[in-house]
Amino acid sequence: MSVPHEISKQVHERNKFICVYCNLDGRLSYQNYKSLTIDHIRPKIFGDNHSLQNLVTACFACNQLKGHYFPKHLADEKEVMNDIKKYISKQRMRDFERYIETVKPFLKERK
Ligand SMILES: [Zn+2]
Repeated sequence: MSVPHEISKQVHERNKFICVYCNLDGRLSYQNYKSLTIDHIRPKIFGDNHSLQNLVTACFACNQLKGHYFPKHLADEKEVMNDIKKYISKQRMRDFERYIETVKPFLKERK
């Protein structure tokens, strides 16, 4: 079940339309704004938790890179968020290399 519109509006307003993981600012461009999603800090597979504390603004890339990751061994909220941020940036570096490899053969075609 996806997050009801009223709830996602509240979450984006609380987070000022900024991805909590990479600081992508949805106010700066339409493209950025359209990439904003709602992330369940504790993933839905652990049971639906649509409470506002469990929901944050995340850009599409961060949400996808995070996947179902959750540091179950941590209890402190701040530590959980820092751990997730670290996980996402590690995934982003790997994915970035894949992206470069994927598009490299096609870069010349643009000239
Ligand atoms: Zn992000």
